[in-house]
Amino acid sequence: MASIQENLEKVKAQLPGGVRLVAVSKFHPVEELAAAYEAGQRLFGENRAQELIAKAPELPNDIRWHFIGHLQKNKVRAIMPHVSVIESIDSVELLKLVEKEAARIDRTVDVLLQLHVAQEETKSGFSVDEVIEAGENGLLTCYPHVRVCGVMAMASLTEDMEQVAQEFDLVRRTYLTLKDGCFDESPDFNELSMGMSDDWQVAVKYGATLVRIGTAIFGPRVY
Ligand SMILES: *Cc1c(COP(=O)(O)O)cnc(C)c1O
Repeated sequence: MASIQENLEKVKAQLPGGVRLVAVSKFHPVEELAAAYEAGQRLFGENRAQELIAKAPELPNDIRWHFIGHLQKNKVRAIMPHVSVIESIDSVELLKLVEKEAARIDRTVDVLLQLHVAQEETKSGFSVDEVIEAGENGLLTCYPHVRVCGVMAMASLTEDMEQVAQEFDLVRRTYLTLKDGCFDESPDFNELSMGMSDDWQVAVKYGATLVRIGTAIFGPRVY
């Protein structure tokens, strides 16, 4: 079996310049994250608040943690001191709460708006219509302690790469609509986080600036 370091290097060698890698380390022990850190990796993604809170103090503090899972409202306060980017803002309510908790500890936090474009009902996120309407109503751009830096999405779990490509294209077009619309005066709105182990090559073709890769680096997760 290839080592974490070899896997990382293989992925990074294929990534075009300007595309950054979030190493998705959920369900993997801190020793494996430390191996990736030693190989130079600094961006890590976790999808459960408890796990992020447990791991962060065990690892070097120049790691930038991206929260990528559904964020329950009662967990926002607990992750706020650790997290660099919350990629999974899926409602205006959550955005308001993140503003409140960031203000409480006097920091500014980067976030992405999660879009739901996949066929599965289980994935969370704004629908395209919802996010555009929220933008038009000024509900995405009124937060002094939150920098909205772009959008995040997952494609359907399917081997049909044509379907996946259509979904990533929709994400990209929605991103551009927001960028030219309510974010036209926000220099920070630049990120398109899309693509995982099985579909990141497609995501990159549609303009991904961040890819979130777990299995191809750390191997299969044991739940
Ligand atoms: C788990 C997860 C990933 C990584 O998935 P892999 O298929 O293991 O690369 C990416 N994004 C999100 C939101 C995830 O929950």
